[in-house]
Amino acid sequence: MPRPIQAFIDLSALEWNLKVARRASNARTMAVIKANAYGHGLLRAAEALNAAEGFALLDLRDAIRLRDAGFSQKILLLEGYFSPEDLSVVADYDLACVIHSNQQIDMLDAYPRRRSLEIWLKIGTGMNRLGFAPGNIRDALQKLKNHFAVRDITLMTHFSHADESTGVAAQLELFNELSAPYRLARSLANSAALLRYPATHADWVRPGIMLYGASPFAEVTAQQIGLQPVMTLQSRIIAVQDLSPGETVGYGGVFCAKYSMRVGVVACGYADGYPRCAPTGTPVLVDGQLTCILGRISMDMLTVDLTRLPFADVGSKVTLWGAGLPVEQVAHAAGTISYELLCGLNERVPILSI
Ligand SMILES: *Cc1c(COP(=O)(O)O)cnc(C)c1O
Repeated sequence: MPRPIQAFIDLSALEWNLKVARRASNARTMAVIKANAYGHGLLRAAEALNAAEGFALLDLRDAIRLRDAGFSQKILLLEGYFSPEDLSVVADYDLACVIHSNQQIDMLDAYPRRRSLEIWLKIGTGMNRLGFAPGNIRDALQKLKNHFAVRDITLMTHFSHADESTGVAAQLELFNELSAPYRLARSLANSAALLRYPATHADWVRPGIMLYGASPFAEVTAQQIGLQPVMTLQSRIIAVQDLSPGETVGYGGVFCAKYSMRVGVVACGYADGYPRCAPTGTPVLVDGQLTCILGRISMDMLTVDLTRLPFADVGSKVTLWGAGLPVEQVAHAAGTISYELLCGLNERVPILSI
């Protein structure tokens, strides 16, 4: 028997969430499948999201895997290329590339082929991460518009506060102003902007997290948006301990029983991708019943409170997140976001499509 931990990926939920995104916007959909499709498995996710007009990711090797698997949609490399050698691969596999720096334009100048590349010029409008500063857009576009290696240009930006009350107004206004003089396709919206700000939809929307059934907003649940959870991380109880008052559990003894307790030991730890920082009180389901983490998360195990679940025992099913327990709730308790938990799923956890 393998260790009882497993992640289930609900493919129909992925398809459903894509429909939710497509119903919210008339723009074309660039499904973001970076980071192994947020931990869900690249090809598995791409198949379920096949109705999208495009895929966005980071790794050239992943883009090649997609093409080799027969996907003919647009594929966008969100950080573009990193070396001159990448460029011929990009052309051979017909990949679209973000260009965010003059160094990338220089590499293009040295590229021997002609009119083969589709470019997404990234404009920095406030994130201050990747992108040309507003004052450099004219120059960059001048170079690219008639560049011998460029076939097509889309203008894009990325929002820093689309999920928060600050919103997108300032960045949207700046982007509109900067892109107005050019008759080029435009792309701005991540999941949060897609759901909340129709004015950002433009030609291409770029949903990520919502496709995987998690809400991009702290104060709105996925269920309220009509999204379905895709990944369920499940394991089983492999031991039960009875604690007397004053006894502790796990490393450092950070949890101390005040009364007699029953503790379940679950085959799941931080080496599986469960966050080590999840404190006592983090929600968990045992046989579908809500209970919580006790003490520190170990590398391969964690401990849960069974005191009020007398029927739970070795072999009981434990849901760490997913169906019945939104990943956002677990993330919130652990002081992080759903994105980190989903894409942090470790390779040693077997994934099963359902
Ligand atoms: C990751 C990413 C997205 C998707 O963001 P979500 O919040 O997951 O919807 C969109 N655009 C870019 C440039 C990204 O890097």
